[in-house]
Amino acid sequence: MNTKEKQTAEQAGQTRCIRCGTCCEKGGPALHEDDLDLVLNKRISPENLYTIRRAELVYDNVNGGLIKIGREIVKIRSAENTRACIYYDDRQKACSIYEIRPIECRVMACWDTTAAEALYNVNRLTRQSLFGSVDWLADLIRTHEEKCGYERISELAEKRRRKEAGAVETLLEAVRYDVELRRTVQEKTGMEEDLMDLVFGRPLSQTIPAQFGIKLVRTT
Ligand code: SF4
Repeated sequence: MNTKEKQTAEQAGQTRCIRCGTCCEKGGPALHEDDLDLVLNKRISPENLYTIRRAELVYDNVNGGLIKIGREIVKIRSAENTRACIYYDDRQKACSIYEIRPIECRVMACWDTTAAEALYNVNRLTRQSLFGSVDWLADLIRTHEEKCGYERISELAEKRRRKEAGAVETLLEAVRYDVELRRTVQEKTGMEEDLMDLVFGRPLSQTIPAQFGIKLVRTT
């Protein structure tokens, strides 16, 4: 809920949830260390999560507007073709996992977002907490970040804009690496495709056009 909507709720004298659905329709919450067991016990399915990696652009649900995040976020996906949280039941206007909903949802009060804002950057869940004990996967995530991290991609995009020699090819190498890594992990481990966005973040082939305005054309 952004500042204007918060003011509207305050002006309406709202002091409790009236199940308008606004919070849930704006997208799923980021997870925190408090939510770790929900994922490890699969009460929240890992396939319903994705990672927004460091320096990726995201919409700030609390204050509105796009921000470049300083630390990675593990977040609940949106339902297909909407921004609404995948666990939001639009017909019932209710959370389908209400009893076990993540901590951000438990503290959110649209008429007073003080608690939600205080929690926002505290103890966020990371891939290290989820996969750090699986050595081969933690190594792959680290290598992927070295080659495909958004700070590097951002530098390459800027070099491409300045028409520096080799920038386009190096950028494309990163995109190809991102594609191949996902394919290889799937083939060799049988990991579900739906898990890839949690393990390696969203594919560069999707985020580079959106973040940097660079059109990518697949040739093979
Ligand atoms: S987990 Fe539940 S309460 Fe939280 S955003 Fe999703 S539907 Fe809403």
